[in-house]
Amino acid sequence: MSTDVLEATVMLEALRVTELRLLLSKMGKSKSGLKKDLMKRVVDLLHNECNPELLSAVGELHKLREVSKDARRSSKPSPVEIISMPACVLPENPQSPIFVCTEPQMIKLPFYQTLDTILPPTPLVPMYEGAMQNSDFLFHLILERVCLCACSRENKKLLIWAAFILKDAVVECVFRICYSESIGVEEDQYPPHICVSVNHANCPVECTYSSNKLGTEPSRPCRPIDLTPNLYLTFTNRFSVLWGNFGKSYTVAVYLARVVPSQDLLDQLRSTAVEQQELCRQRVSEKLRSDPENEISTTGLQVSLICPLAKMRMTVPCRARGCAHLQCFDASFYLQMNERKPRWTCPVCHRYAPFDELLIDSLLCGVLESCGEDVEEIEYLSDSSWRAVRHDKSDKNKETVQHQQIKHSKISHIHFCVLMTERKGLI
Ligand SMILES: [Zn+2]
Ligand SMILES: [Zn+2]
Repeated sequence: MSTDVLEATVMLEALRVTELRLLLSKMGKSKSGLKKDLMKRVVDLLHNECNPELLSAVGELHKLREVSKDARRSSKPSPVEIISMPACVLPENPQSPIFVCTEPQMIKLPFYQTLDTILPPTPLVPMYEGAMQNSDFLFHLILERVCLCACSRENKKLLIWAAFILKDAVVECVFRICYSESIGVEEDQYPPHICVSVNHANCPVECTYSSNKLGTEPSRPCRPIDLTPNLYLTFTNRFSVLWGNFGKSYTVAVYLARVVPSQDLLDQLRSTAVEQQELCRQRVSEKLRSDPENEISTTGLQVSLICPLAKMRMTVPCRARGCAHLQCFDASFYLQMNERKPRWTCPVCHRYAPFDELLIDSLLCGVLESCGEDVEEIEYLSDSSWRAVRHDKSDKNKETVQHQQIKHSKISHIHFCVLMTERKGLI
């Protein structure tokens, strides 16, 4: 007896009568009798026929049982009855109505450059009563696609596929999932209790739940799931999604994507998103004019050269187009941070600051190059020049020295005002 069969036999123990009946009817056998009769019939089937379909069905049902057990353990007894079977596979015929359904646009992810579409956006359709659903998809990878690219002389795509076949680490086959209801671009969102497998091997899904209540969706960001390790290059691939149906509709898609490292994004930013010095100067003088604090308009506006994220001197100062503040943050740190956790939130004003919106401040770049390493803060003056703001040691105990050093206390006060307005999001 193979280990697979042995494993499946053990798994059967956990299944319920309804599930055993589902298995039997799927295999075209009688589903009448007591639990022990049903069990014997399934065990016989397993041992005599060793049908891979039956093996995987037992595995899936067992997994569902585990999920529901976990859910029960973590909350009050739930009314959710989990009866499910691996779905009959969706038709591959593109004429099938399933493919004409709404096609939400998945948000462009800077760290994943889409190279080819393997499974176009397709809705997850609940097939069973109860919350737990299983949706299966079939797709062929290489042969068909490579032929298609070769015939249509799409050499670029052909090269991409070659890279994939040669297991070039930066090309991945990724699975993405988002809401269906939306108009416009949708951010990725996993459904509750998501579990993904490719060719019956589990695909790890990195997700965190804000609560263990049944039906809670994993928290964002929900990254694309890498299906690559378990894919067949030449056979048909079966990819299954276990998910909780709690009234929301989701759309899934599979893409071939290049994983873009943050350094590449930084280079891209440097070559395409630099705001000209003249525009930067205009921005500063507008700020100086429009500032409600008279005091500031007559003196200057202070900007820290220390990145608010890394607390280190900036090398590539940037901010988002939508940011109303002069203060920059370091593009390199920001990209690295989002590579780890893609939140795309401006560290200064906490607004959405996606990659496409980032602009490098060339005026501040020049300042960083020309002033000493020890300078941590500068001041833009009303005559469109700037000067370094030097803090002597006593600045740290401002409280005590403020009254003695009149000149510095004025600077400290302005500095304070700038900080306050910055917090209020005015700068
Ligand atoms: Zn901002
Ligand atoms: Zn200061």
